Amino acid sequence: SLSLFLLFVLVTIFPLGAQPDLQATEFTELPLTKQTAAGLHKAHFKTLTDIQRKAIPLALKGRDVLGAAKTGSGKTLAFIVPVLEILYRKKWTTLDGLGALIISPTRELATQIFEVLRKVGGHHTFSAGLVIGGKSAKEEREALHKMNIVVCTPGRMLQHLDQTFGLNVDNVQLLVLDEADRILDMGFRATVDAIVANLPRTRQTLLFSATQTRNVGELARLGLKDAEYVAVHEAA
Ligand code: ADP
Ligand code: MG
Repeated sequence: SLSLFLLFVLVTIFPLGAQPDLQATEFTELPLTKQTAAGLHKAHFKTLTDIQRKAIPLALKGRDVLGAAKTGSGKTLAFIVPVLEILYRKKWTTLDGLGALIISPTRELATQIFEVLRKVGGHHTFSAGLVIGGKSAKEEREALHKMNIVVCTPGRMLQHLDQTFGLNVDNVQLLVLDEADRILDMGFRATVDAIVANLPRTRQTLLFSATQTRNVGELARLGLKDAEYVAVHEAA
C-alpha cells in the first residue's frame, strides 16, 4: 500500500540524511590525545554542547566545517579541540613554525579564545601567541617566529604578513575564522582576503558564526572546500 511505501521511503531516507558520528556526548568518548583530554578535564569540560558534538568529529576527519550556532553555544572548543588534535597528529613542533591561524574580529574575543587555548592546550608542547596589537609590533614580530598557533585580529595579522620579513605561513595546516559573520560585517573583508591569499591552499578551514551564512561566494572566497555545514537552531 501507499502508506507502507511512504514509511519505507522515510525509513531509508532518514539514515542517509543523518550526519555521521553524532554519538559522542562526552569528551571521553572522542578519540582525543591524553594531553587534550587532560586539559578538558582540568577545565571541567565533560559533556559536549550540540555544536561541539556536530563539528568536532568532522573537523577531526580533516573536513572543512562551516558551523553556525548562537552566542554562548560553545563554538570556541569546537575549533580549539580540532586544532590541538590535528597539530599533534602531524607531530608539530616548534621547529615547524606556524601551524594554525585563528582569526577573531575583536581583541576582546581573541583574548578570550587565547585563554581557552591556554587552559585546554596546557598539556601540549605547542607554543601559542596572541597577535592583537597593543604590544609593540617588534615584540610581536620576534615572538611570531616561534609560534605554532596564533590567535589574531585581522588587521594586526595582515600588518605582520606585509611587514615581518621571514614570517612563514607556508606550513599553515588550519585556518579558523571565528565570528566570521562579524569579521565580514566589520569591514575586514579585504583584510581577510589578503591574509587567506598568503596561506597554502591545501589547508583545512573551520569557519564559525552566530548567524547562518551560507553564501556560496563568501565561502569560496574564504577558501572552504566541500565544507560540511553544521547548524544548531534556536529550537534545538
Ligand atoms: P560561543 O563562542 O558559541 O559564544 P563559547 O565558546 O564562548 O560560546 O562558550 C560559552 C560558554 O560555555 C563559556 O563559558 C564556556 O566555558 C562554556 N562551555 C563551552 N563548552 C562547554 C562544555 N562542553 N561544557 C560546559 N561548558 C561549556
Ligand atoms: Mg565565540
